[in-house]
Amino acid sequence: MMEVADETTYVKHHKAKIVLILSAMRHFAAELRDAGWTVDYIALEDGGNSGSFTGEISRAVDRHGASEVRVVEPGEWRVLKSLEGLKGPLSVPLEILPDDRFVCSLNDFYTWAQSRDTLRMENFYREMRRKTGLLMDGDEPEGGQWNYDHDNRASPDKDIAPPPAPRFAPDGVTGEVIEMVERRFADHFGSLDHFGWPVTSDQAEEALDAFIEQRLPDFGTYQDAMVHGSDDLFHSLLSTSINLGILDPVECCRRAEQAFRDGKAPINAVEGFIRQIIGWREYIRGMYWLEMPELAEANALKATRPLPEFYWTGDTDMRCMADCVRSTRESAHAHHIQRLMVLGNFALIAGVKPQEVEDWFLVVYADAYEWVELPNVAAMALWADKGRLASKPYAASGNYINKMSDYCGDCAYSVSKKTGEGACPFNPLYWDFLVRNRKLLESNHRIGRAYATWDRMKPDKQQAYLDSAKAVLDGLKPASRGWARD
Ligand code: FAD
Ligand code: SF4
Repeated sequence: MMEVADETTYVKHHKAKIVLILSAMRHFAAELRDAGWTVDYIALEDGGNSGSFTGEISRAVDRHGASEVRVVEPGEWRVLKSLEGLKGPLSVPLEILPDDRFVCSLNDFYTWAQSRDTLRMENFYREMRRKTGLLMDGDEPEGGQWNYDHDNRASPDKDIAPPPAPRFAPDGVTGEVIEMVERRFADHFGSLDHFGWPVTSDQAEEALDAFIEQRLPDFGTYQDAMVHGSDDLFHSLLSTSINLGILDPVECCRRAEQAFRDGKAPINAVEGFIRQIIGWREYIRGMYWLEMPELAEANALKATRPLPEFYWTGDTDMRCMADCVRSTRESAHAHHIQRLMVLGNFALIAGVKPQEVEDWFLVVYADAYEWVELPNVAAMALWADKGRLASKPYAASGNYINKMSDYCGDCAYSVSKKTGEGACPFNPLYWDFLVRNRKLLESNHRIGRAYATWDRMKPDKQQAYLDSAKAVLDGLKPASRGWARD
């Protein structure tokens, strides 16, 4: 096992993300040793550490006189290419094995994709339900429906009271990593004051137990809700553990299904949770490998604006944005709707360059690896792939955020004000986005109808929207260099 400098700095990951990964690796190495395995572990600051996967593999081959190298396929295109590049120079054969922590192998995904004109998640998800047997009643979906999403869009009630998320206090191993990260990566984004992610499979199992018992029943209903200062609501917070490989995704789904069969959680919650994992997560991973390397450069809407500074500092009067950045800085996490409809939506309608947004998302979230971050950001949030993944851009005005959150009441901006001084910035930017991209979006059956509304507006109202959008865009301070990459 090897900790290599290249992987900690090729983008300047959130400090909590580095601690999470290195601490989990060190705990896993100790568990393997306790179980009788021999582990050759290269720590980040060990003398002679070459700082790269390829360098450390070569050194390990020499050290052990290895006759063969076997690695599991990595989660990033960049790493796969460097491993493939090592095949020639390495003195022994190198075999890249499939990652069996997914339900759908990449070959099966490619076969599915080849047989389709459009690659919609919903069709793929049904195949995964049949394949796993999860929530199936014979050949039919449990309850007669594949998808209960329409029950999962409640606004947050005033008295909504999610149980506190389980947090795991750093032990000695994590403490040592925290000390090293604070010293070595002092200029990286994020705080370590609240670090509490599971770093072992036992802790991850404990977090899963707590989710199934305490949060799953309301997971569906409030899946899209946002509440100021209440960062996770009824979400599972399991993505860091599943992506690290310390929690099995199918086991999470089976536990949720059992809760339904025991009458402890309703179908809309359980189906919604299972869809996120065997539907969205698997589909996103397949799409990453199918669309790379083009996806990393995609920019269908020709967006060129630099990322605004407030994505790093949180220094903005937009209460929704400031709260999402705060949560991101404190815990390296924000939930799905915060990522999609606040942080992603603003970048989309302001026309921020996809590669700058992608860097940000890759840096700031503890669950971010390129296979899962890039399709979610480029294709889902920014529509940079021209709709290969998402049937429409997730562009929204302040109305959506107001409906799904309690952010707007105490905001310095007025969500009901459409234009001019004090108007919610999402309002004029939404129309400006549609006007800027009319050629590409007018024929889209899911968003195209908005143009009829625009065309019915009086010219002075249209102009007021465009003027207000220009004022918002002119006022955006670009992020200074060095936050994401040196
Ligand atoms: P829950 O809401 O409890 O969902 C349960 C599980 O479903 C998650 O743990 C995760 O494993 C899976 N899941 C749900 N939605 C997705 C999805 N769209 N793609 C893949 N898996 C999903 N997820 C990441 O794991 N890493 C990322 O870097 C990442 N970046 C994102 C960027 C954007 C712009 C958007 C819109 C979404 C992103 N997601 C990412 C997906 C999703 O937001 C997170 O998986 C989720 O917020 C994790 O919190 P949770 O475990 O509480 O999830
Ligand atoms: Fe966000 Fe606009 Fe609501 Fe303020 S008014 S919280 S900027 S959506």
